[in-house]
Amino acid sequence: MAHKVIIIGSGCAGSTAAIYSARANLEPLVFEGVEPGGQLSLTTLVENFPGFPTGIMGPELVQLMKQQAERFGAEYNLEAITSVDLSRRPFILKTADTTYESHTLIIASGASAKWIGLESERRLVGHGVSSCATCDGFFFRDMNVAVVGGGDTAMEDSLFLTRFARKVTVIHRRAELRASKIMAERAMLNPKIEFVWDTVVTEILDPAKQKVEAVRVRNVKTDKEAMLPFDGVFVAIGHKPNTEIFQGQLKLDDDGYVVVHDGSKTSVDGVFAAGDVHDRHYRQAITAAGAGCRAAMDAEKYLEVQLK
Ligand code: NAP
Repeated sequence: MAHKVIIIGSGCAGSTAAIYSARANLEPLVFEGVEPGGQLSLTTLVENFPGFPTGIMGPELVQLMKQQAERFGAEYNLEAITSVDLSRRPFILKTADTTYESHTLIIASGASAKWIGLESERRLVGHGVSSCATCDGFFFRDMNVAVVGGGDTAMEDSLFLTRFARKVTVIHRRAELRASKIMAERAMLNPKIEFVWDTVVTEILDPAKQKVEAVRVRNVKTDKEAMLPFDGVFVAIGHKPNTEIFQGQLKLDDDGYVVVHDGSKTSVDGVFAAGDVHDRHYRQAITAAGAGCRAAMDAEKYLEVQLK
């Protein structure tokens, strides 16, 4: 039998959609996705989520949301959805060995930060390497940090980090920024921000000590290597929405984000989107949670008409 609501993604957006739809007796089935708990599961202390005056650890916050949804009857499933068919009713969703049907679909599969791809980087995420300046900048008070990237996110992160850090060094692989003129100018004029051009990071030290002490860099023009001391590294080379399985099935923008209209509606009736998968701008836990609530309410309204 077809489910009433299937939710893809178990970050703030997915679990909030699960809480609301479970409380509306829609018995949602939640596929946890490639990063169960979403981006919050990769962060440490979250200090800006309302209701936690002394902060809460990111993984704990998403776990609590999941428990709250389960309490009202949401079911969580760890299988990965490998394909969807949104041209049929009910919608068809496939995992490696099971086929599911659903009358509505809430896409909350999020966006993943792009990483440089170094083994040392992977081992130091959460220990001085971060992809979220808003989340982790506070921990680098009076320290010396690097920001990797040359786009608007890198400039925004660098400017934000000057509130805490003693010095911010932007390491960019070219000699020209991709960022908008206004953001680039702001960063260039900030006395706390320095730039290292034509340079890539080849290693972050020291995973054995579980903390950042330095980065090894290589100038792409001269091939010269150098070791630069830092207390933290912020990787700001963009995000990628997790929408591969929806390509060709619903409207995505040029960068792959789901296009929404009238709240959480997508180009396919009965398919709703919430959180970073459609939101390239705010990308906060609380805005994703709000969007999840909105998608659940839109799905409920849609089902009221369809299943009458
Ligand atoms: P982006 O514009 O795609 O910039 C990514 C930057 O990272 C580029 O400078 C790129 O270098 C560099 N990069 C990519 N892969 C790399 C790698 N493997 N190693 C080293 N460097 C790498 O991404 P974004 O900055 O996240 O911005 C995304 C969108 O959001 C943009 O449209 C942006 O305008 C918008 N945005 C706007 C604001 C704002 O207006 N306040 C803030 C944030 C984001 P190259 O330049 O050499 O390609």
